[in-house]
Amino acid sequence: MVEDCHRARRSPGTPPKIVVSSNGATIAQFHSQPAFRKSLLQADVIDADGMPLVIASRLFCSRPLQERVATTDFIHTASEAAVANGLKFYFLGAKPGVAEEAARRLRHKHCGLKIVGIRDGYFRASEEKGICEEVQDSGADVLWVGLGSPRQERFAVEHRDDLRGVGWIRTCGGLFDHTAGAVPRAPQWMQDHGLEWLHRVRMEPRRLAWRYLTTNPAAAFHLVTKTHD
Ligand code: UDP
Repeated sequence: MVEDCHRARRSPGTPPKIVVSSNGATIAQFHSQPAFRKSLLQADVIDADGMPLVIASRLFCSRPLQERVATTDFIHTASEAAVANGLKFYFLGAKPGVAEEAARRLRHKHCGLKIVGIRDGYFRASEEKGICEEVQDSGADVLWVGLGSPRQERFAVEHRDDLRGVGWIRTCGGLFDHTAGAVPRAPQWMQDHGLEWLHRVRMEPRRLAWRYLTTNPAAAFHLVTKTHD
């Protein structure tokens, strides 16, 4: 992230890298929605944000994934690196006020962290170009986009060229809600055993039960039949 952002500053004509996360729902959507598949294939980095992916790689690959990269953990590593290297963040997404609270908590924890712009995720398609201009004008190095899937991936791919000068567009789902404390994380043992999704269903049953019920079986099928070196 640091290298890419420094490179983007040196040659501001370069489009940003797109960094996304994958979990069970992502895998299911990848195989059922051609438009989403197309967006995801344009990403430069795809993190494994789910223990099932790590477990599948341990079972079927000679060089398994070393660990899960949860965006809710990565934001802290990224914030430390940003403070140490003078990088600036822009937060785009979530309901009004949520990303502000997430920013407040992060600044408190990571003294000197520069979050140079914040905007909620409820806007019309016609406003998107203006938002990109605002991000560019802010001088942000990393744009965190938490609009939910598949909207955030489409936004990243469609506006990559409008965001030249930014080093990374980092999709982040419900990160702002988690960081603002609106949705508590699962206990560590559940995270370690690939059960965070079960905790999330318990916290938000109406929204997530249907999602997991429809995507988990498909994700399990694709992980078992398609994971290889
Ligand atoms: N969201 C948004 N704009 C929208 C729809 C959703 O900013 O038009 C936000 C929503 O407020 C929440 C996040 O996107 O913060 C939803 O992410 P979700 O929980 O679906 O992400 P995931 O479960 O994929 O991490």
